[in-house]
Amino acid sequence: MTALVLSGREVATLVERDVADRVRGLGARGKTVGLATVLVGDDSASHLYVRNKHRGAERVGVLSFDHRLPRDASQESVEQLIGALNADPRVDGIIVQLPLPDGLDGNRVVEALLPAKDVDGLHPCNLGLLVLDRAGPRPATPSGIMRILDHYGIETEGKLAVVVGRSFLVGRPLAIMLGGRGADATVVQAHSRTRDLREVTRRADILVVAVGRPAMVGSGHVRPGAVVIDVGINQTRAGIVGDVDFEAVSEVAGAITPVPGGVGPMTIASLLENTVAAAERAPEGR
Ligand code: NAP
Repeated sequence: MTALVLSGREVATLVERDVADRVRGLGARGKTVGLATVLVGDDSASHLYVRNKHRGAERVGVLSFDHRLPRDASQESVEQLIGALNADPRVDGIIVQLPLPDGLDGNRVVEALLPAKDVDGLHPCNLGLLVLDRAGPRPATPSGIMRILDHYGIETEGKLAVVVGRSFLVGRPLAIMLGGRGADATVVQAHSRTRDLREVTRRADILVVAVGRPAMVGSGHVRPGAVVIDVGINQTRAGIVGDVDFEAVSEVAGAITPVPGGVGPMTIASLLENTVAAAERAPEGR
């Protein structure tokens, strides 16, 4: 079998087209849309991710504000910057690039965000809304994955979805979304303490891997015909690779996302969508 390749890039283009229309609509009413990024330290992968977010913002007509702090920035200075962005009427969305350098408390920084401007959907209020199945900004990567499944008409109802990884950024919110009303999958969440991972993943109709270990999932982990979503982004000598051995698994799976060009572009598209939605909800004059 040769798997259908699920192009996140293609879906992202459609989402960004819609976002650009909405940004223009707000512009016609005199409202600009602004996205601020906060990057602390000099991690090269984080720099790349932030650059990609600014490029995305530019593509859809969102103004972007690039804030950088040195690696030894204090907790107080980061929180002060967040406070200033919370109060800035030009800023509709704020992204703090995670992880923060050692010594900074990422939870406290995220909690300093105004929930209405938390376009990453990671503030406890917004994660709470997700758990309660109420409207609010959803974490960008899981939203992007749900959008890919929807775009390609991949049925989730009653299917067994195995999500490998339980971070609050990806695995945990995604498991909630897949198991929520409307998606209605039966979800198993695997992690580093899962016994016999291969036996667990081989049962999945939909297998999502969000771990951060190059090619840790091979053809032996996948049931023939399964849908495989690879979230991993791993910098290797051979370039950027996912958590799934793409060549081997495409021979077994029914459908698979590539890396790059799969989940990554959808993360950015979802962030931009959350940003324009925040601008649409912003009170007049903010
Ligand atoms: P993370 O916070 O490090 O979480 C990794 C998860 O993988 C943890 O839950 C961990 O389990 C689990 N894990 C580690 N080793 C395992 C093993 N041998 N077997 C099963 N589970 C294992 O990472 P993250 O932020 O979720 O990111 C995961 C990957 O996705 C990274 O490569 C990251 O770069 C990528 N990513 C991509 C995008 C995108 O847009 N494409 C966005 C975000 C992240 P424990 O909880 O037990 O430790």
